[in-house]
Amino acid sequence: MSNPIYVTQPVLPDLKEFIPYLEQIWAKKILTNGGPLHQQLEQELCDYLNVDYISLFNNGTIALITALQALDLKAGEVITTPYTFLATAHAIVWNNLTPVFVDIDPITSNIDPKKVEEAITDDTVAILPVHCYGIPCDVVALQVLATKHKLKLVYDAAHAFGVTCNNHSLLNYGDLSTISFHATKVFNTFEGGAIVCHSAEMKQRIDQLKNFGIVDETTVNDISLNGKLSEVHAALGLLQLKTIDQTLQARGEVDHYYRELLADIDGIRCIQRENLEKDNYAYFPIVISEPYPLSRDELFEKFKQHNVFARKYFYPLMTELSVYQQYQSDTPNAKLLSEQVLCLPMYPALEGSDIQKIVQIIKGRI
Ligand SMILES: *Cc1c(COP(=O)(O)O)cnc(C)c1O
Repeated sequence: MSNPIYVTQPVLPDLKEFIPYLEQIWAKKILTNGGPLHQQLEQELCDYLNVDYISLFNNGTIALITALQALDLKAGEVITTPYTFLATAHAIVWNNLTPVFVDIDPITSNIDPKKVEEAITDDTVAILPVHCYGIPCDVVALQVLATKHKLKLVYDAAHAFGVTCNNHSLLNYGDLSTISFHATKVFNTFEGGAIVCHSAEMKQRIDQLKNFGIVDETTVNDISLNGKLSEVHAALGLLQLKTIDQTLQARGEVDHYYRELLADIDGIRCIQRENLEKDNYAYFPIVISEPYPLSRDELFEKFKQHNVFARKYFYPLMTELSVYQQYQSDTPNAKLLSEQVLCLPMYPALEGSDIQKIVQIIKGRI
């Protein structure tokens, strides 16, 4: 049997390049708590992403939980999408807020601003959209709504590292944006994440929140988590940043090759990302529908028989999970997409011959 092909494979630098960073950490004996490599990574990320303030975190989920906490929302409802990863909804409930799930635009897979507006009530305190697959939400319409109704706007930008929109970083939209540096994401630090914010005061507050709410030796202002990123993780980030442009370019080549080979197959639609300015090609989702001869689940199983492990991102919807039963709502576009979508393997080291094999399976030739 051929080697398994997984939906993703993390980018890693040459191990030899990592050793000097470890030697530096061992020599300085500073392992965490905002050490020198952590500071350097925050600075380099601000420069690379073209954002003013960034606070690093140990993962994207704690970043999201902390972002909602930092806004001091009064108890109430947060409007979000059911078509996402668990962390989005979990972060709302962890803050004792109520998730309100509204439908998506079936073409972009992102939250539909019209549905958001319909869902706004006197209890709404914030909107939490996701730039799904790294495709920008309708940031202009969402900001108009947030301003008009005096709501906070936080983007789960876990997929959106490096994407630009209207000539600036997508991460600059909204009150706060959170990113994930998990191993499966475009830019990884093994585990990691960040919040992007727009003022020095907010960064200071976030930095206190990610450190137990500690202000100084005798003052604690909040009951919050430990969200700090270690020096080893920061070191990996510094190395990954050196090759990020090559990483994104290689992902783009995979994307374009898939699109070329998958054009004109009846019942197979590649989710479009052609209007993106600077894309990160975070995922390669296809939508399977009639007259394609197999269902999504049948194609998924067929891939497995050929040692190809595609993923059903995002299935099931949040609203279909028993833990979110009390937050049920009717989101037909999201439901249909979740039943028809399959994310194909997408990573820089994916070879042309692997892509050809995956397409041959889809075409029923093997
Ligand atoms: C990966 C992901 C997160 C959480 O990131 P972690 O770093 O794994 O905690 C949040 N939201 C979405 C949409 C994600 O895909």
